[in-house]
Amino acid sequence: MTFSSYAFAPEIMAQIEAQGYTTPTPIQAQALPPVLEGKDVMGLAQTGTGKTAAFVLPMLQRFFVTGERGKLRGLIVAPTRELVEQINDTIIALGKNTGLRSVTIYGGVNIKGQLSKLRQGVDIIVACPGRLLDHIQQGSINFNQLEMLVLDEADHMFDMGFLPSIRQIIKHIPDRRQTLFFSATMPPDIRKLAHAILKSPVTIEIGHTEAKDSITHVFFPVNHHLKTDLLFSILKHTETKSVLIFTRTKHRAKGLDQKLQKKGYAAASLQGNLSQNKRQEALDGFRDGK
Ligand code: AMP
Repeated sequence: MTFSSYAFAPEIMAQIEAQGYTTPTPIQAQALPPVLEGKDVMGLAQTGTGKTAAFVLPMLQRFFVTGERGKLRGLIVAPTRELVEQINDTIIALGKNTGLRSVTIYGGVNIKGQLSKLRQGVDIIVACPGRLLDHIQQGSINFNQLEMLVLDEADHMFDMGFLPSIRQIIKHIPDRRQTLFFSATMPPDIRKLAHAILKSPVTIEIGHTEAKDSITHVFFPVNHHLKTDLLFSILKHTETKSVLIFTRTKHRAKGLDQKLQKKGYAAASLQGNLSQNKRQEALDGFRDGK
């Protein structure tokens, strides 16, 4: 199976190739045919499976070959600013030759830039639920012509308490639309939401990927006051390149970051109290190995 079997427009095909995608991933192979046919899809898949392109490509294809430019026709809702930016990066990369315009909408940044982009006319919005609802309430977004709605990482949005916002948002969207719903897990509340908003969906499921053989798990039962020393000892005696450390609170993330820096490690923390610039800096720094 190759991408050429889906009859994407040459402008889009060129970008699929430029991204180095040769064969569709399993979720793409399962999702692309029904999504391209306009069917609702419920996809059980985690990030890293290629699911972004599974909904972005059919959206670009439809908006590129049919309809008017600069009319809001696609809405993608995702739980975090980082995911929103990643999805938009995929839209920009794959849609480079289509002339379609997208905007990202999330809190923690000035609303003026978002308003000015919206006024210029966009085809696709990628948004976090909270700020999107602010825009809806202010009347800065009109969904009358919306054709495609994507909810990505629905279970994370639920965990973060966004379910009421999502219900509110959906009330403003025309019933006549294609809806794509992605979630890594399907607890009962998420299933209920999916059933309420999807019409005769095609369900696809990508088997949970097992942890790679190269990963070793180690568990250290340790008292709270010894944790930092234990961490330093592990870091000192283990050969590592990049290291990701998760903490329970923002405060601990920040504190640990400072302790690591004092010890001479090139560390950064990534937590919700940082400005979007600082968050992006931390992510870029990690990616570049700085
Ligand atoms: P996602 O699960 O959407 O976050 O995608 C994970 C990664 O896989 C991203 O870096 C994509 O660029 C990449 N990717 C998506 N589709 C393909 C494909 N068909 N072939 C190779 N890489 C892909």
